[in-house]
Amino acid sequence: MAGIYVHIPFCARRCIYCGFFSTVREKEAARYVNALCAELRQRKDYLNLPVTTVYFGGGTPSRLSPEQIGQVIECIGTEYGLENLQELTVECNPDDVTSDYVSALRALGVNRISMGVQTFNDDLLRFLGRRHTARQAIDAVQSCHDAGIHNISIDLMYGLPGQTLAIQQQDLETATGLNVSHISSYCLSYEEGSPLERMRSENRIVPADDDTCAAMYDSMCNHLRGAGFEHYEISNFCLPGCQSRHNSSYWDGTPYLGIGAGAHSYNTISRQWNPNDLDTYMSGIEQSTLHPESELLTPTDRYNERIMLTLRTAQGLNLSTLTPATRTKLLTAAAPYLSAGTLIRTTTHLHLSEKAFFISDAIISSLFI
Ligand code: SF4
Repeated sequence: MAGIYVHIPFCARRCIYCGFFSTVREKEAARYVNALCAELRQRKDYLNLPVTTVYFGGGTPSRLSPEQIGQVIECIGTEYGLENLQELTVECNPDDVTSDYVSALRALGVNRISMGVQTFNDDLLRFLGRRHTARQAIDAVQSCHDAGIHNISIDLMYGLPGQTLAIQQQDLETATGLNVSHISSYCLSYEEGSPLERMRSENRIVPADDDTCAAMYDSMCNHLRGAGFEHYEISNFCLPGCQSRHNSSYWDGTPYLGIGAGAHSYNTISRQWNPNDLDTYMSGIEQSTLHPESELLTPTDRYNERIMLTLRTAQGLNLSTLTPATRTKLLTAAAPYLSAGTLIRTTTHLHLSEKAFFISDAIISSLFI
């Protein structure tokens, strides 16, 4: 089993909080898609496993036409085979979505849409620099249903400046009223170099304080649980059986090939990453001179990554996969958290409590060797 991630870096304009690699140079899209196909051919040896998931992320993949997305899917089929494909996701921005657009994606085999909504409050959407309104987000989800794609995820954010608990509650109620199967919800972070971070450092906005963010986290967990969602990863909730298979493969150590500028790959031995620059990426691929940067993983790296990734999930780490000596060491480091109830040990696994997901970074890093 393996996954392919395809990075589409184009955005119509930049949101003020964005920390992803993205560019507004959309005129380069046709050349970029050709480079993606060339990279798929050039790196064919990286994965020698059946491809079960494909994920178009960004940036904004819905800035590509269905024909351009189809060109990449066809290349994946030719070079890697799609016989074992279980999930094909395309991230979309609500204002790119029409019934025709989603129907065309469905005809290409796309069976999951991930929609960047963030909030259903129009004032906050404007503040964040998002291109869509709440109405457009609601209509976009309906267009997916109308086109026959019912495996829909939406992204939400909380801890936004000016967002009250009541506004967040409205977001949650609207989200769970849309018949979606998956919700990803992130606390706003202030990314270095972003306009939002500059506004904070110049005291032009009032960030949500820690207590407000913690209260929003609790209210989100309670609301989504009440609506039948399982909290299966720190930031991800789904209806039973509707986990993101592609993203789950990141947490369970499944190999994946990342194609495109800035994309990362992992094959259990090394991690590789492409340059975060459109021109360097495209000309490198065109001249067959692009060599992704690479890091060989030591046994310590592999152990720490496993702790970090598995403890992000509700299931946690399977203790029987550790040697007795390593298990003893881990459980000794975990003892204070087990006493405090932030870590929980079952007969087979070690996992974080739902409350501790919110403060997971400090706990997880203290378990590293
Ligand atoms: S749409 Fe996404 S990737 Fe593009 S600027 Fe906004 S947050 Fe960044």
